[in-house]
Amino acid sequence: MQFRSTRSNKPLVSFKDAALRCLPPDGGLYVPARVMDIRQFFLYMDAATSYPELVAAVAPALLQGELNPFSASRVAESAFDFEPELIRLDDEFSLLNLHNGPTGLYKDFGIAFLAAVMEELLKNSGQAMILSAARGDSGVSIARAFQRRKGMYVVLAYPSGPIRGLDPSTLITNGGNIVPIQIRGTFDDCQRLVNATINDRNFAERYGVTSANAINPGRLLPQTFYYLYAFIRIKKYLKEDLVFSVPSGNFGNLMAGLYAWKFGMPVNGFIAAMNANNAFGDFIRGKQFTPRPPVATNSPALDVSVPANYERLLSFYEEAPAVMHNMVYSASINDSLTLKTMEQVWKKYHILMDPHTAVAFAAAEELSASKKWGDHTHTVILATGHPAKEAALVLQATGQIIPIPEPLSLMQKKTDPITIIDPQLEDLEGAIAGCF
Ligand SMILES: *Cc1c(COP(=O)(O)O)cnc(C)c1O
Repeated sequence: MQFRSTRSNKPLVSFKDAALRCLPPDGGLYVPARVMDIRQFFLYMDAATSYPELVAAVAPALLQGELNPFSASRVAESAFDFEPELIRLDDEFSLLNLHNGPTGLYKDFGIAFLAAVMEELLKNSGQAMILSAARGDSGVSIARAFQRRKGMYVVLAYPSGPIRGLDPSTLITNGGNIVPIQIRGTFDDCQRLVNATINDRNFAERYGVTSANAINPGRLLPQTFYYLYAFIRIKKYLKEDLVFSVPSGNFGNLMAGLYAWKFGMPVNGFIAAMNANNAFGDFIRGKQFTPRPPVATNSPALDVSVPANYERLLSFYEEAPAVMHNMVYSASINDSLTLKTMEQVWKKYHILMDPHTAVAFAAAEELSASKKWGDHTHTVILATGHPAKEAALVLQATGQIIPIPEPLSLMQKKTDPITIIDPQLEDLEGAIAGCF
């Protein structure tokens, strides 16, 4: 599979180059240059197929010429010591748990594959340095996925304040490959310095600097795999339509679902579940989209004004507007309905959900009542966050005290940075150069 920019049909780049560059130089986003139908590689699978098996079969089909089946099984085994989990609640609803990874967020799935596939694709050809401004979970997820991988380094720029969740034995000062640097400043300062370093072509090329942020196509593509995983498990129960309800902020997760459909997954609809930050729903309904400043809610990952994947979505709508308007529906769920849904799901199914998942659950119920699809439609709700990450809200909504699982309790451990610097480009570049 080759990639192009949303803003141009040329040049075409390989998956490896698209993942290493993250963004095309023209300011667009990388998208597959041609959609491929790979249904023959997964339609025969059923609930007995494990996640690494599925990935090992599907990834080389998508990445023909770059990833052979042997490499792909190595990548799948090394990326995934955690799996999604499909829980069929009743005839109408299932939950697809995507919160079993090291940081309890669905983002672990894309990051884990990116790290493993980069190690495989870069074998014997120099080094790569993942440079990222780190806030909370994203830095931990990247560090966990890339730690101990050959030829790869992770530089995390932290703002002032405690640094949590890194394993001290993986730091570069202890012979590892993780480089936490603290910047005397805010997260925005970190972001600015990281972008300046990536744009300093000489420096970036000398150290093989790249980014692993959420719009990297190397994270987006593997997110299609868990949709297929849900499909092969639920298909034997399907009587009529299949719909996925996705809590959506930057629309990476929903975008991956749309690619899974383009790759041949039989599906009838997607629900873009939003909270009070719902201006983008106008775009989905085919109206003029006027962004509004985000407001704070109890599902903060959805507090987004302009989705980072806007250009990718736009290219789908420009190609086939009528098809898209029949495929994607939006819903907007407020904070009180979010809490009420957490309570009702606990009472009815004895399952605790995080608020982002609850937004998607409430949206699924709303769309089901509106009869957009047939009477026997089954909706798979993507559970994107572990409920223990939102223990206070879970307690408020359900009265339940939720135990913190082992991987998430490790995220509370504090680590020291290897150095503390002023918010200047020379200082960050000097600190990085000093490590090698
Ligand atoms: C990031 C995140 C989302 C939103 O996903 P997008 O791809 O940005 O739409 C939803 N839920 C949780 C828990 C998240 O961390």
